[in-house]
Amino acid sequence: MKLTFRCRDVGVVCRAAISAETEEELVAKIAEHAAEAHGVTELSETLVDYAKTKVRSDDSKR
Ligand SMILES: [Zn+2]
Repeated sequence: MKLTFRCRDVGVVCRAAISAETEEELVAKIAEHAAEAHGVTELSETLVDYAKTKVRSDDSKR
């Protein structure tokens, strides 16, 4: 299963789409991206939880 997170979905003007195989990996990648692209050095638990609600699983390839 592939999980995808898009910055756009949380209201950030950013075209980045981050994907990973597991939620843990995805959260780590989001944190990395947030730091590099948005200067967010620390993601709060609230932010992470919110981001998780926006994660989509792309199981089907169309
Ligand atoms: Zn972004």
